[in-house]
Amino acid sequence: ADGPGGVGQAAIDALMKAEQARFRAGHPQSMALAGDGADGFYQGVPMHWMRDWPLPFPLIVTGARGATLTDADGHELADFCLGDTGAMFGHSPAPVRDAIREQAERGLTYMLATLDALVVGQLLRERFGLPFWQVATTATDANRFALRVARAVTGRPKILVFNGCYHGTVDETFVRLIDGVAVNRPGLLGQFTDLTADTRIVEFNDLPALEAALSGRDVACVITEPVLTNCCMVLPDPDFHAGLRRVTRETGTLLLIDETHTISTGPGGYTRAHGLEPDLFVLGKPIAGGVPASVWGFTDTVANALDRVRADLPAGHSGMGTTLSANALSLAAMRATLEQVMTDGAYAHMERLAARLATGLTAAIALRGLPWHVVRVGARVEFICAPGPLRNGTEAEAAHAGPLEQAIHLALLNRNILIAPFHSMMLVCPATTGEQVEALITAFTEVISLLAGEGE
Ligand code: PMP
Repeated sequence: ADGPGGVGQAAIDALMKAEQARFRAGHPQSMALAGDGADGFYQGVPMHWMRDWPLPFPLIVTGARGATLTDADGHELADFCLGDTGAMFGHSPAPVRDAIREQAERGLTYMLATLDALVVGQLLRERFGLPFWQVATTATDANRFALRVARAVTGRPKILVFNGCYHGTVDETFVRLIDGVAVNRPGLLGQFTDLTADTRIVEFNDLPALEAALSGRDVACVITEPVLTNCCMVLPDPDFHAGLRRVTRETGTLLLIDETHTISTGPGGYTRAHGLEPDLFVLGKPIAGGVPASVWGFTDTVANALDRVRADLPAGHSGMGTTLSANALSLAAMRATLEQVMTDGAYAHMERLAARLATGLTAAIALRGLPWHVVRVGARVEFICAPGPLRNGTEAEAAHAGPLEQAIHLALLNRNILIAPFHSMMLVCPATTGEQVEALITAFTEVISLLAGEGE
């Protein structure tokens, strides 16, 4: 057909219209509570991303447990969004809930280390293999601080990102390659400095371009996810990570691996599963089971260099840290998550169900003859409404079929399945059941049949 993803535009429009009506009819309570948005909030929501769901009015949530989320109209949704990874290990896992309850009796934030902190440092060291760690509040912050350290210890001004990347709202990473030219990412608000002055950008999987961009030895750090997950997913070529590490070492450039999404791979992230050797490592979102927290780690070499640089600086603000970072509550939740939630057993379950999900979606797509594909990184599965595999950010950008994906997301929601709004990403958590996975496959099959014009 003529439209995006090989689907007719008329079929997409018809599905969107029908599903909008169905959503209105099915959510009278959410409509009554928040039809005009929540009072007092700009755009009617406490954080404007909550308006990015393809919904006529905000969906009001009353609770969630495990992999099930309940809305104000009493719908029980199988949650494959999981707070866009913040709840990747399920909503309120019992050990985290208990740790929070206990800590709530003893104070929440002191700007002093706790008994949990004594344990967490060792847990991070053992699990991720880097000797030194710091705790921040968001992955965004962790990336900002790690990049600052990279510039400080190398004495180099620039960083390098891959096209299509996302590392949080970190100013210097908001660069894109458009028609081969580096530009400030379109859509940035209030951006009055030119970010391309200090940020180099090349395509993922393009080792010759990487080599050329680092050859001047003025780049402090390459920051990347092991797999690009924030555009339509792009897997690394088999030799890409080895090449990336070789070129960064040869040019004295540090390598920062951001595992915030790819922690879906396994208990030690993609890094441990594939033997990557980053100089700096960042993980946010689910690390404290949904309590805001992130961690960033680094090697002995970086730590020693940091000591030397700091010795020459006057006392004062380092440009790193925020007041509530590493607070007692987040450390308690992080300890519970690391010790009792992010276990080998949990990952085995996630891996098994995610594999089934990917197979089921792939079969549904094949049955309808759609030119789409499915990608999986451990517990993270994505359907992409374009042929694959995708090799870089430019291809991923072109594969993105916004209105088509939104119509599918809404249709799934009306069938009690929640997936992430920004991309067609589905996460399996330790509490996800086989029935929920089958329900998603069934709903997806039904929805794409509607799009392919085969009737309900
Ligand atoms: N790094 C990666 C890889 C991410 O996907 C994200 C968020 N999507 C972030 C960092 C930023 O996380 P946060 O918004 O929690 O700061």
